[in-house]
Amino acid sequence: MSKKNLEALPFSLEMEEISINGYERVLRVEEKRVNLSAIISLHNLTLGPALGGIRIQPYKSFEAALEDALRLSQGMTYKSSVAGVGFGGGKSVIIADPKTQKTPELLLAFGTAVHALEGAYICAEDVGCSMADVDIIRRATPYVVGLSHERASGNPSPFTAWGVFRGIQSVAFKLFGSESLTGKTIAIQGLGSVGSCLADLLFWTGANLIIADVDREKTDLLAQRYGAKSVGADQIIQEKCDIFAPCALGGILNEQTIPTLRCQGIAGAANNQLLQETDGDTLAKKKILYAPDFVINAGGLLNVSAELEEGGYHPENPRKKTHQIYDTLLEIYAIAEKNRTSTQSAALELATHRLEHGIGKRIFSPTFHNAITD
Ligand code: NAD
Repeated sequence: MSKKNLEALPFSLEMEEISINGYERVLRVEEKRVNLSAIISLHNLTLGPALGGIRIQPYKSFEAALEDALRLSQGMTYKSSVAGVGFGGGKSVIIADPKTQKTPELLLAFGTAVHALEGAYICAEDVGCSMADVDIIRRATPYVVGLSHERASGNPSPFTAWGVFRGIQSVAFKLFGSESLTGKTIAIQGLGSVGSCLADLLFWTGANLIIADVDREKTDLLAQRYGAKSVGADQIIQEKCDIFAPCALGGILNEQTIPTLRCQGIAGAANNQLLQETDGDTLAKKKILYAPDFVINAGGLLNVSAELEEGGYHPENPRKKTHQIYDTLLEIYAIAEKNRTSTQSAALELATHRLEHGIGKRIFSPTFHNAITD
């Protein structure tokens, strides 16, 4: 491990390299005066600089934070590879309670660390990190997307929701021979930015909804708006439905929950839905069609990465690509069928094939249209 002290910067940052097999660069970042303790994980830079969010959470330990950063950055590599955005996989985590410990100084110090990587990592908002936070980080580095300026891509959630909607249509097509969702029952777990937008899209296309969120008030409100059946947050996974759409937590498809499923397909926004890769095989054995999360939920990534196009952000471009998530998923179902593997394995195979052959590799450097004007 080598230690580099960035004395020249206004912050006294300690950036310590952690050597992890299979990872391009993993850094432990500390700035004691502002209580910054963070990890930046760059998993793979084959196709372009690593693009990935900043997760701010009060992790129980450094090891737990590291595990999350490694898992999430690897997921970003696969997501970017299949989405063809010309970016690699990265993610950062800041060990702090976003409600009480997130200060402008901490965010600025973190931005300084991102800047020290000279564009190898481009950060964005994620759980616990808001648009206002990335605006602060922008003061320390231009290597950030999802800001509030007028040339930015804005809220990624409607794009993610549209990609999930198209993914649900692909599951319906594969299972029932038609992409129509009229009269189909879809159960949505989590009614946040993506889940609530998805509920709206599904309502207008004629689907019947079952919904749940830990926030009962929100669930009741949307149940009334969409004539949906409202159930408890711990109950929705066992509801009989055509397609289950997990839009809340990771790891919800596991040894305990899979035997209780009463759906024919799974297609939702949540990251890392499978607790383990083998859970994808269990789903395949149960003949439940699973739309791999890192493929179906790429709409937000497609949108935010469009902000870095040379000609500036035009929503029509990511809209077109998000629409095509349907076709990518049909391709993955076909690979799975041909190779007699799970759809998860097929999606990973597609992602690694693209990485190995440099398919979708970035030719031009990303353009940052985010100059500070005030
Ligand atoms: P969000 O925080 O806005 O919403 C999550 C919702 O899930 C909240 O309403 C919360 O109350 C609810 N929830 C939490 N625990 C629950 C439980 N046990 N049962 C039921 N509901 C529960 O998040 P979001 O932006 O809507 O994202 C949803 C998921 O999709 C997350 O896993 C996120 O990582 C993933 N994702 C989001 C985007 C995006 O563009 N926002 C892109 C890719 C992936």
